[in-house]
Amino acid sequence: MIYFDHAATSPPLEDVTRTMAEVMAQHYGNPSSLHRLGDESGKLLKKAREVCADALKVKPSEIVFTSGATESNNLALKGAAWQYINRGKHIVTTTIEHPSVFECCEQLQGLGWEVTYLPVNASGQVTVKQVSDAIREDTIVVSVMHVNNEIGTVQPIAEIGAMLKNNYPRVLFHVDGVQGFGKIPLSISDCGIDLYSLSAHKWRGPKGVGLLYVRDGLVLSPLMAGGGQEGGLRPGTENVPSIVGMAKAIRLASENVTAKSQEMSRLKEILVHGIQDLPQLVLNSGRDGAPHIVHFSYPGMKAEVILHMLEEEGFIVSTQSACSSKYLEPSRILLAMGKDAATASSGIRVSLGSEHTEDHINKLLNSLTKIINKLQKLKGEPS
Ligand code: PMP
Repeated sequence: MIYFDHAATSPPLEDVTRTMAEVMAQHYGNPSSLHRLGDESGKLLKKAREVCADALKVKPSEIVFTSGATESNNLALKGAAWQYINRGKHIVTTTIEHPSVFECCEQLQGLGWEVTYLPVNASGQVTVKQVSDAIREDTIVVSVMHVNNEIGTVQPIAEIGAMLKNNYPRVLFHVDGVQGFGKIPLSISDCGIDLYSLSAHKWRGPKGVGLLYVRDGLVLSPLMAGGGQEGGLRPGTENVPSIVGMAKAIRLASENVTAKSQEMSRLKEILVHGIQDLPQLVLNSGRDGAPHIVHFSYPGMKAEVILHMLEEEGFIVSTQSACSSKYLEPSRILLAMGKDAATASSGIRVSLGSEHTEDHINKLLNSLTKIINKLQKLKGEPS
């Protein structure tokens, strides 16, 4: 089996699973406890925070451990909305954000906040000018994802951050970094980012753990009431084994990003060429998109049919994104990009990991060609 669904989740590193099992069995003390076992866990937590901060080139005090990017995104947006309620009730985001941002904004709308959803162009991008034009006196936060999880579009984060810092320093800048981290170099401090969300399982760490970078000095309202863990921002006994596992993975994910990105881009280019040679397929992801995501449609054909036929051939791919694939509706992201319903209902996402080789890509292309020919014959059309 060749796994091409890294944008949904990635296989955890052996070092991660081994370390987690060790921590779970041996270092089970509550990090808040005063005895020796508690102290041991506290030290592991402190070390993990330092490793995560180091990987992101930020301060340990700026890392808040969460249960993953869904929580990080909710904490960033609702935490800012509630904290700065007297400053304003307007949020700016895009139409192609992950549901954990998009639906969080919809919830806030229901509670009286106003949200501007910026439309995207045919490749899924927003411009700095669009963001700038949307800012109002009462805007408190701008939330733009680095890389779209479905089609891999990369947003101009550095330019948006610079514009905000120069012209609207009081407006917070939140970036959902889930799909970009470890794939495309990005500097939190150089991009003027105030809040940055990550999930560990997208870069070979464990599921159900992530972090929110919160710029020093920035105050958010916690979503939950409880003990004072994570500086009071995220109460609850810390998930020490997962946090330690995440720290193992983040170190590797943050190393040699440029080189890894170049190699993935090379493989992506081969895949894109192969897809373009199949006239039945429509390429949705741009060449200038993230190096690990290739998205195409077979208009008129249900995406699940291709997914299962590829699975029979030994390839794991995805329809839409894992978060939306169960709904079987046209993709909100593709519709926002102006694609028709047939294209938006028949999308297949192939997402690469660093273990892939040219041979894997060629095998996938061979099987895809075989499947398309078979389907064309079934439809009674020339292949
Ligand atoms: N944002 C993006 C861009 C994502 O791809 C995902 C995961 N699909 C999330 C947020 C949410 O991450 P999690 O499900 O790990 O909370």
